[in-house]
Amino acid sequence: MSIEKLSSFLASTYENFPKGRTISLVVLRTTQSETIFRTEGSGEPMSSEFVQAGLENTEIIPRLVMTKRKQIAPERRKGREFLRQYNLLYNAKGDTICSLNTNAPCEMCIDCFLYGFAAGGEGAQKSRVWTEDAFSILPSTELIGDRTINALYENGTMRDETGKASTALNTSEYIKPSVHFLDIVTLKDVTADELRYAVGNILLTTRYGAVSSRVGRMDNEILGVFGGFAELPSSLELVQQVFDLLSKTDNVTLEHPLQKDSVVNAVKSIINQWTNKRGISVQLNEEELNNLVADIDTNWSMEKQEEFLARLNKTYESYRQIPAENTSKKSKGK
Ligand SMILES: [Zn+2]
Repeated sequence: MSIEKLSSFLASTYENFPKGRTISLVVLRTTQSETIFRTEGSGEPMSSEFVQAGLENTEIIPRLVMTKRKQIAPERRKGREFLRQYNLLYNAKGDTICSLNTNAPCEMCIDCFLYGFAAGGEGAQKSRVWTEDAFSILPSTELIGDRTINALYENGTMRDETGKASTALNTSEYIKPSVHFLDIVTLKDVTADELRYAVGNILLTTRYGAVSSRVGRMDNEILGVFGGFAELPSSLELVQQVFDLLSKTDNVTLEHPLQKDSVVNAVKSIINQWTNKRGISVQLNEEELNNLVADIDTNWSMEKQEEFLARLNKTYESYRQIPAENTSKKSKGK
């Protein structure tokens, strides 16, 4: 079992105090459909940043950015769907069930313990899942499409009940399909089951971006897993190294869409040189990585997921601080 190879960097049990053990994941995120990372109709521009193209190639280019919040919010929501299904979300103050972005975390569920919460009251838990902005490999100018759409009437057609044609026009900027983002996710002082939970959320989440009918399909793939005492190089450094390498690779033209195989090969050949740098002590090899993903798939399978989540949930039992006014209703949420 490959998860054992990471054991020096995993906590044996949840603890309140950090000990500097990190598991880092290299994640390739590929859009599978048109995707929008902003609130639709808000007039916000698509998020991009001017950065150096490569470490060697010093040209400045705009890159699309998938911000931390755009990554982590859908992934937390995915995990919480299962917690809700198995009644593993607890009641917060005022008898409301634990929920995101409502200032009412329960401070007791797996999500609260792992991804953190800042409560209005006494408690706070730092998130132990750290993401950073993910960057596109190619310049954003290649990756954004623009479309003018006639607004539909409620009957789903361009004409209202009286046969009048719609004149409302919307211009919509979108990220094209087959755009690759590279991302480093760092897990701090997590247990083996917390690792399974966090990676499961990444692998199970397939929709990102604006919450509407035009949400983007996204495929996430784990290309590397490291254990160490320090963070990996940043996702920007990785993207820049990949850009340099691809521009030197025969048969790869740096235009959209990039061939996924070329991207995966470039990423793997770069991260394979990271071992024993910056406190990296262990990198799972190809077979161990596949075994780890298989282990995670098994724990999340229909047959095992309830047992897996209940086991993880139980590990926080002695650390739960029942808010004073809730002592009498220790029961789980409905
Ligand atoms: Zn909670």
